Amino acid sequence: MSLQIRLAMFYAVLVGAALLAFGLAVYNQSTEILMQQIDVRLESAIKDAGNALRWQNSETMITYDASILLQLYDSNGELINATETTQAGFLPGEVIDPEGLTITLQTRQEYSAELVRGNLHYKALSVPVMVDQFNVGVLQAGTSLTAVDRLRVELLRSLVLIGLVITVVAASVGYYMARTALAPLATVTEIAGEITRSDDLSLRIPEGRNKTDEVGLLIAAFNETMVRLEHLFNAQRRFIADVSHELRTPLTVLKGNAGLMRRMNHLDMEALDSMSNEISRLTRMVEDLLLMAQAESGRLEIELIPVEMDSLLLEVYQQARILAGEKKQFQIVDIDQLIVLGDRDRLKQVLLNLISNAIKYTAVDGEILLRLYNAGDEVRLEVKDNGCGIHEDELEKIFERFYRVERSRSKMIDYDKKGFGLGLSIAYLIMVRHAGRILVESEVGVGSVFTMCLPKFMPEN
Ligand code: ADP
Repeated sequence: MSLQIRLAMFYAVLVGAALLAFGLAVYNQSTEILMQQIDVRLESAIKDAGNALRWQNSETMITYDASILLQLYDSNGELINATETTQAGFLPGEVIDPEGLTITLQTRQEYSAELVRGNLHYKALSVPVMVDQFNVGVLQAGTSLTAVDRLRVELLRSLVLIGLVITVVAASVGYYMARTALAPLATVTEIAGEITRSDDLSLRIPEGRNKTDEVGLLIAAFNETMVRLEHLFNAQRRFIADVSHELRTPLTVLKGNAGLMRRMNHLDMEALDSMSNEISRLTRMVEDLLLMAQAESGRLEIELIPVEMDSLLLEVYQQARILAGEKKQFQIVDIDQLIVLGDRDRLKQVLLNLISNAIKYTAVDGEILLRLYNAGDEVRLEVKDNGCGIHEDELEKIFERFYRVERSRSKMIDYDKKGFGLGLSIAYLIMVRHAGRILVESEVGVGSVFTMCLPKFMPEN
């Protein structure tokens, strides 16, 4: 059964139950009031008749209410007198309530009862007639309950009818409201099904007018999940395409050289060198990918210990001098004694990557300057070059996996030194693990500044 129907039914049952309780209360209360009125009428008729008997000291019976039959009995239960009644059903001379008569004679207590005789439903009241503490007889009064019964039936019919109408209206309103509220869910189901069928993650659910209710929030959350999924899926697809693309060139070179040597039937040193270079490149790439996978899944082992950044900078500087060669100006212009909490090898890897990029993308007579300084709570290590620079549009992309700026690459880099576009992605991930970041400023033709920023280590003492 659909949620709409269940909600509508629940609503209708709730309204129905409330109406039933209300109807029962109204019916009982009304019946009670009507019966109390009958009792009052019977009692006052008997009282009037008793008073008349006492004053006139005779057995003449009078009643002002023609719908009430009065009967007077002596102490032996013999009928002495009776009024005439207009009401059908009472036979002249017949005792109104024989059982009431007997009981009242015996107990000398008032007795009232509801009786049915033939078609007649009536109420009877028996009252002892006392003279000087002696029971001299019984007065009985009876009146038909037909009018009361008719009123009860009318009331019941009206209550049932009104109750049914209101319950049906409640069910319809409930169904309509549930349908309106749940309509967007049908769209969600439909679009989710379409995404599965067509494998199209770019589909989104149209947002309704009300974005803050539960359904609106569900749609927003669903769409957000889809954006994230699409992004992840595309990244995955691009990653596979990039890896395959990167693998193709070295494998082609390896295959070509191997084929060449086989055809010539002798070992060619040049071909062997080229093959060895390709294998080194492939090995680097696989190592980089492994490192990145570890960093992305949070499995990269990072041992946090106090690291003296000045000694780290000097160490990397010595190594990189060889890379820079003699034709580039490469120097440290500022070096403060600063300590950070981090993994020395990983931080060294980041710095080496920034410096080797600076060397790679700077012309032969270029200038590379290194600075280590303190900036508030941060330790900053700056690598500044006057190389080709990076275009503004590309600045935010250089930290993406496999991203390389084609122009700079083709201009300055020979094939052997060509990177995979993984260096900065790995550097970024390592810095994030150290609660740090990399700042970059660059201008095409002027140069670039890459800055490692790390929280300063403050020993507690
Ligand atoms: P790669 O291995 O290709 O150098 P990286 O991830 O280290 O990959 O860098 C991504 C891209 O950013 C590079 O291809 C290059 O275009 C650009 N880049 C990085 N550092 C510099 C720099 N100092 N000057 C100019 N371009 C740079």
